[in-house]
Order: sequence, then C-alpha cells, then structure tokens
Amino acid sequence: MEPAERPLAGTGEGSLDPEDWDSLRQLGHQMVDDMFEHMRTVRERPVWRPVPADTKAGFRQPLPMGATPAEDVYRDFAAEILPYSLGNLHPRFWGWVMGNGTPLGMLADMLAAGINPNLGGGDHVANYVERQVIDWCAEMFDWPDDSSGLLVSGGSVANLIGLAVARTAEAGFDVRSLGVRGGDVQLTLYGSSEMHSSLQKAVELLGLGDQALRRIPVDEHFRIDVQALETAIEQDMAAGMRPIAVIGCAGTTNTGAVDPLESLADVAERRGLWYHIDGAFGALAYLAPSFRERLSGLRRADSLAFDLHKWFYLPFEIGAVMIADEELHRRTFSLQPDYLEHGDRGPSGGDLWYGDYGIQLSRGFRALKAWMAFRTYGVDRVGRMIEQNIAQAGYLAAAVDDHPLLERLAPVDLNIVCFRYVRPEQPDTDWDAVNQELLFRLQESGAAVPSSTHLQDRFAMRVNITNHRSTRSDFDALVRDVVRLGDAVIAEM
Ligand SMILES: *Cc1c(COP(=O)(O)O)cnc(C)c1O
Repeated sequence: MEPAERPLAGTGEGSLDPEDWDSLRQLGHQMVDDMFEHMRTVRERPVWRPVPADTKAGFRQPLPMGATPAEDVYRDFAAEILPYSLGNLHPRFWGWVMGNGTPLGMLADMLAAGINPNLGGGDHVANYVERQVIDWCAEMFDWPDDSSGLLVSGGSVANLIGLAVARTAEAGFDVRSLGVRGGDVQLTLYGSSEMHSSLQKAVELLGLGDQALRRIPVDEHFRIDVQALETAIEQDMAAGMRPIAVIGCAGTTNTGAVDPLESLADVAERRGLWYHIDGAFGALAYLAPSFRERLSGLRRADSLAFDLHKWFYLPFEIGAVMIADEELHRRTFSLQPDYLEHGDRGPSGGDLWYGDYGIQLSRGFRALKAWMAFRTYGVDRVGRMIEQNIAQAGYLAAAVDDHPLLERLAPVDLNIVCFRYVRPEQPDTDWDAVNQELLFRLQESGAAVPSSTHLQDRFAMRVNITNHRSTRSDFDALVRDVVRLGDAVIAEM
C-alpha cells in the first residue's frame, strides 16, 4: 500500500484514508479471518506464555516519523502481539475477575469504531441505542423503567459515579459549589472490610478521604456484620460525623461473598442513608434463576454498579451504573457551557446528553456491543451461562473437598473457589511458599491461570469462574495439575 501521506492529485491536500481501498479491504478481511481462527482454536494453545525479551525490547522503539505499510504493521501484530496476550480468552483462565469476550463482541466493536459516533449528546441514533441498553439493564434487574443510567469503562468508574451522586444527595449542603469542607462536617460511608479497592479510590477522589470509608468486619462467610454496621453508624453520629451512604457488596472480589442486601437496605432506609451496591460481577447472577432470590435486595439500591465485560462476557471496556433518581444523577454532573448548548432541533437537539450524567464528555459507542449481545443471545441464554459457571464453582468446591491433599479456604457463595494444596501431617511446612511456587509453575506451564489472595493470613489459590468457555473437564484437569505440581514442589524441598 502507498504511504497515507501522499497528497490527493492536484490539490496538495491529503487525508488518512487509503489510496488503495481494495488492498486495505483485503487486509481487513485477512484480519477478521485470522481473529476468528485465533478464537476458534484458543483451547489448543497454552493459556499464557511469557513475553520474550526480544518482543519486549521491540516495544522500545523511537517515534516513527515516516510511514510503514499497513501489511507490515499487521505482520508485526501477528508475530509480536497476538501470541503473548493475557490469555483471558482461554477456557482455563480463572484469574482475578476477567471477561472472555465473544466473536460477536469483536465484530460489534469494529462496527462501533467504523461509524465512530460521539455519545456525549445530541440527536443521533447511537444515543438512542445507549438509552435502549440502559432501559434493558433496568428491566433485567427489575428496576423502575424511569431509572437513570450510564455506560462507563467499568466497575471502578461506576462506583465513583454512584458515590458522587450519593455525596450530592446526602451531604446536606451544596458540595459542587462549596466542596467537601463546605459543611464543616466529616461525611462517612460504610461497607465491609471485603469491599473492592475501587471504592477507596472513589472516596479519595471525591475528597472525602480514605478515613471516611468505614470498614465493617465480616462474618465467617465474608459477609458484612450488620449489627457491627449499626453500631459504627451510631458511634460516628454520636461523635458529630454525618453518615451518608451504606455500600453493599454483591459478590466480593476475594471470595464471591454476597452481603445480606435486604438487611443493608433496611439499615439505609431506617437511617435515611444512600444505598449503593457494588455488583461488578455478582449483580449479573440475578439472571441465574437459582440465585435470583439471594439478590432481591438489588432492587432496593439507590445506585448500582456492574460490569458487562465480566459476567456478561462482552469485550473490554464496558460497565454500567444505574441511579434510581434521574434528577439527582443529572444534578451531580450536568454543566452546559455555551459551546455545548442543547439545541431545539438539528444534531444538537434531543434530550439524550450523556455528558451530563458522568465525567466523560466524548464517549465511544460501547453501547453497540451490548445491544447486539442482548439481541443475539437473549438474556435467558446469558443467564444459563452464568448458572453454568455457578454450578462449575460447586463442582470444583466438591472436588477440592473430596481430595485429601486439597483444602478449601472459604465458603463458595457464588463463583469463586479459594483453596490450597496441603499435607495435614506436615504442619511445619511453609504451605504459603509451597502454594505460591506451585501457582507460578501452573501459570507458567500454560495449563491454567488461577490468581491468588490471602485469607485469614493464608495464601490461597483463587479460581474465579466468569468464563463461558470452561467445561467441567477443565476443572478436573486443574485438580490433577495442582496436585501433581504440589507433589513436585514438596519433593524438591
Ligand atoms: C472488577 C471489580 C471492580 C472494578 O471494576 P473494573 O471493571 O475493573 O473497573 C469493582 N468491584 C468489584 C467487586 C470487582 O470485582
């Protein structure tokens, strides 16, 4: 292909469109074919493989001033990028809380980038697609149909927006104008000690300070102790502070624990506090008939954060926040400078100005992949996949419990299994070190990728199942590999 900077004939002006559309079109077809093959055959490759030193060094090049043919750049992609990815497409990737994406999601992202609209606002169809997705999310969680919402990059930003609205609603003074010092009172928020770190980032960014986030102890199921919560709120009030929000965890990151969401709703209601739920992945279990009742409290939240790139299996990045009170949502973020005037007609018309509901002004068309997934799979099918993952967690937990050399380290509420390799007759062995070593070997072998955590001061391998490609035989293989590697590590010590 010709370099893109070649001027258009006669005018001396140029563009970034290809000189030769046919050859770029051909390259595009090649890319689509290659990526489909990559996805179709993912099971045949290692889950993860180390990035070679030469490849790492290849990404320390000087700024390219001149052009390189797209074919050559794509060849480098295929050789240096494609093989060394994280591995989260793979059926045996269970680290952290990861999504796998889908072939359809890949195509949707291509279409979205192709038409490349900006969803900051205005009267163009993409905004109506986003509203449709938000409305479907509300319906999916049995929220009222006048609920407000916004698609965001993920759970972290969803939590930030939820707590920002809580601050507006409950501060008791005009925070936007006066800042958090304006009320001359310490605002406090409450969640369990198992809360996600993004909630701490959110309170820090909101100027409330980490100390404002009260961490309430959990019970033996890693669920918040509601009595301790009440006591903490009363103590803070007696000390002159102003509690503003209760935060519920619908699926903690460590163990998948689900707080008693109805009891938390009762506390928030009785004390007139905002009720935010971080349901990054766990909220989606509302789609699994066997789990729905456990999550009935979702319906009572004032704000709900959840991801569509985790347990809705979409490609990164897409999460959402829903706010029960549309007016409060808008009041927290809306600003209309002259250059963003909303018109009565034309492209600046319409009433869908998503820039007034969050931090971003320019916003991409992430709604498209959600809209296509909702329609192509249907919510029932996604619910069956989630149900399948929950059943797989039960299957793995039972296999761990049955094995004499494996020990489970937390109850399985939902989709996360934490366990370790241990020989009970050898209490003096450093089992943390053994398990860390065996986990590294397991990951580096490419056989499987769990992650790790610490539970009650013990190192735990942590298997998070939000993977639509996993089968029961993958968990059988995991148990075999863990025991084999554990035996090997012990033999070498
Ligand atoms: C992943 C996660 C988050 C953060 O979401 P991102 O999409 O990574 O920004 C927040 N809370 C919980 C419980 C999570 O699992």
